[in-house]
Amino acid sequence: MKFFSTRSFFRITRPRPIILRRSIFHTRSHKLYLANKEAARALVHARIAHFMQYYGSRHGISVGKIAIRNQRSRWGSCSRKGNLNFNYKLVFLAPAQQDYVIVHEICHVKEFNHAKSFWNLVGETIPEWKKLRAELRRVGQGEL
Ligand SMILES: [Zn+2]
Repeated sequence: MKFFSTRSFFRITRPRPIILRRSIFHTRSHKLYLANKEAARALVHARIAHFMQYYGSRHGISVGKIAIRNQRSRWGSCSRKGNLNFNYKLVFLAPAQQDYVIVHEICHVKEFNHAKSFWNLVGETIPEWKKLRAELRRVGQGEL
């Protein structure tokens, strides 16, 4: 009876691990992006649908196109037309942090600024937005 070495068994049964030279929140790995962008897209669409039940009916907000990107320095962004971009690395955040980023960009469709009225709008569904904002700054992917 022949035995496979541990190494070849590992290669047959699992995809090759993606080796990162930097931490997950600082890597520029294109492979990591390809491996996770569809999961990020599913997450973002599901949570936008969830929060738009509130912001759509209560505030008349409607979002444009949604894109998932391998951004270096942003968690998300919103264009003047209401198109939203999200960093695929959202999938590596805690659920409360993911929701904060998603609500932040939804609210920019109505309030294209960071004035008090913007934060009040965010706070209607994410009361702990200040704590989450500080956590994301510590993670280090940069601004929203
Ligand atoms: Zn913002």
